[in-house]
Amino acid sequence: MSELRPDTRTVHLPQPMVEGSRPITMPIYQTSGFVFDDPVLMADAMGAPDSAYVYGRYSNPTVRSLEMAVAGLEGGVAAHATGSGMGAINTVLLSLLKPGDHLVAQRSLYGGTAASIKDLVDRLGITVTYVAENDPAALRAAVRPETVLVYLETISNPVTLVADLPGMCAVARELGILSVVDNTFATPLLCRPIEYGADIVVHSTTKYLAGHTDVVGGIAVFADDELYRKVWHHGVALGTTAEPFASWLTLRGIQTLALRMERHCSNAAYLTSRLAEHPAVSAVHWPGMASHPSYELAGRVLSGFGGVFSFDLVGGRAAGEKFMAAVRLALLAPSLGGVETLVLHPATTSHRSLSPEELARSGIGEGTVRVAVGIENPEDLWADVAQALS
Ligand SMILES: *Cc1c(COP(=O)(O)O)cnc(C)c1O
Repeated sequence: MSELRPDTRTVHLPQPMVEGSRPITMPIYQTSGFVFDDPVLMADAMGAPDSAYVYGRYSNPTVRSLEMAVAGLEGGVAAHATGSGMGAINTVLLSLLKPGDHLVAQRSLYGGTAASIKDLVDRLGITVTYVAENDPAALRAAVRPETVLVYLETISNPVTLVADLPGMCAVARELGILSVVDNTFATPLLCRPIEYGADIVVHSTTKYLAGHTDVVGGIAVFADDELYRKVWHHGVALGTTAEPFASWLTLRGIQTLALRMERHCSNAAYLTSRLAEHPAVSAVHWPGMASHPSYELAGRVLSGFGGVFSFDLVGGRAAGEKFMAAVRLALLAPSLGGVETLVLHPATTSHRSLSPEELARSGIGEGTVRVAVGIENPEDLWADVAQALS
């Protein structure tokens, strides 16, 4: 096509074929659509997740690589990657629930999920019953003919309650309802809910899976192909599909997930044991501690206790505020799961709209500090926390 004029040639740029060798890492397919040589194949490509790549909102090879990676780690058959964790959660809920349906959810939920469920109830005529995350008998009692699913979190925030996934998923299965589990805090390296009978696992990949505090993303993993196809169709229609660059960053993060989780867990074990001995601290909450209400369950459900913990300061709200002003290495920021240690004072930030009584009911004190521990050297972290406590 050398006879083309320069202004056409600037548009149609050369694309060398990769032959005889291939890239070591998954390339970023930064394209919104795909070109077909065969018009019949193009017509066929629109309807299913496993047909040829056609348009970025349906699928993309880089996004698919992430979906295959996380589906494999979770022991699922397929996954749908989304632009955020809330994108994955709302795609699942909106795909499965219709007016008149009922769901059961655990009481302590991630704030965004709690708000989305409240919205389903207020605007779409869906009803909800809240039960404790460790009470299969309460789940059994709550299920009605119109119940579609139970929604659980492997480890909740910020009080780190561990769900009885084997018990709750077994009841769901027996009664013919779906179980959806947010596995963000555990990652598939500490817990694989599908092995306990879950039907769908959701993640905010923003957190540990991507792990470097530089990308927002989510994913839903499915134990069953029919369920995957149903949710995929809704996800494509809702427009929640992940971007190739965000997916690529997440893939790169996943390659070091095992190393990072080991350090997150050992740093949390070290800091919680030091904090528990400190006179300015009245309680420490981490499922790896024998004093935690989920300790026994955590030992059965998790293969590690995770990198999020909280502790209560003897001095209450004022002490919480002073601690936040005094830390130097730990960063004052929301979110979790990144390489940097982040601290948060729920009473004045994430939970500031709650009264002291409501805070107490959520298991949060006015002097509670939440720590999402990073992968720094534990002695440097303890030195920072200790100077802030004094
Ligand atoms: C952060 C988070 C979400 C929401 O994910 P986004 O990526 O922020 O949309 C959902 N569940 C849990 C447990 C989370 O920590």
